[in-house]
Order: sequence, then structure tokens, then C-alpha cells
Amino acid sequence: MTVENDVQDAEAGREPGEGECGLCGSAPATLLTQQGLASLLIFFRLSTWKGWACRDCAEAVHADADARTMTWAWWGVGGFMAWAFLLGNRARMRKARALDVPRSTPGVTAAMAAPVVDVQPWYRRRAPLVAACVGVTVWVLLAAFFVLALTLPE
Ligand SMILES: [Zn+2]
Repeated sequence: MTVENDVQDAEAGREPGEGECGLCGSAPATLLTQQGLASLLIFFRLSTWKGWACRDCAEAVHADADARTMTWAWWGVGGFMAWAFLLGNRARMRKARALDVPRSTPGVTAAMAAPVVDVQPWYRRRAPLVAACVGVTVWVLLAAFFVLALTLPE
């Protein structure tokens, strides 16, 4: 019985710790924060992802966070801030992008067996791309309307 349990424990492995990717268990990893923004009229909602991530998983988290912002930020006051979130996420990726190729850590079992591959950035995904085109157009028209309203003689 005990032998069987030991074998099971060995197969299950331990959870990823500090310095190991929380998603796939690989190392090296860095503490990563990425944020997405959703907005409707005067409301907005922030979604924050924070944790240890290897280079490749960080890229996936980054793409998802930006895709969320580019899909959902436009429909309210958040439209003003979408660019700031993209720049902020990008700046916070610097450390992760400088990491070495992720290698799996023996004895660690994470949610995924290997780093995320085939990551699509937001501009290669349909929903964020369409939303960004419509959103930017609406904001530009709004801005043009206000400029005209302010500058035209009565
Ligand atoms: Zn990973």
C-alpha cells in the first residue's frame, strides 16, 4: 500500500513554486502582472493576472490580456485608457521576454504539461480586431464631432 502511494505521489509531483511557471511548471520563470480592461458607458472593470510565468506562458497571458482590452475597453470611458493598458502590459513583459527557453522541472506537476505554444496576438484574432476597428472609429468620430462643435462659428 505505502509503495503504491509513494509511486502515486511521485507521479502527481508537487505544485510549481517560486521561480517556476505557475501554468506549466517550467523554469526559469518571473513574476508577471498583466491587466485587461473592459468598459461599458461610465463603468469599467479591471482583470488582473498575477503569478509566476515562463517566457512562453507569459506570452500567452500577455496576448489574452491585450485581446480582452482590445475587445472590451471601447464601449465606455475605458476607451480613453486602452492604449495605456497595452503599453503597461508590454512594459511588464520585458523581464519575461528576457528569460531563457523554458525547461520543464522534474517532479513538478502543473495545470499544463508544457508551455503554451502557437500564441495568437490580439490583432490576429477576429473579435478583438473587429472590436478595435469599430471602437477606434467611434472614438475618432466622437472626437471630430466635439472639435467641430467647438470650432465652428454659430
Ligand atoms: Zn510556462
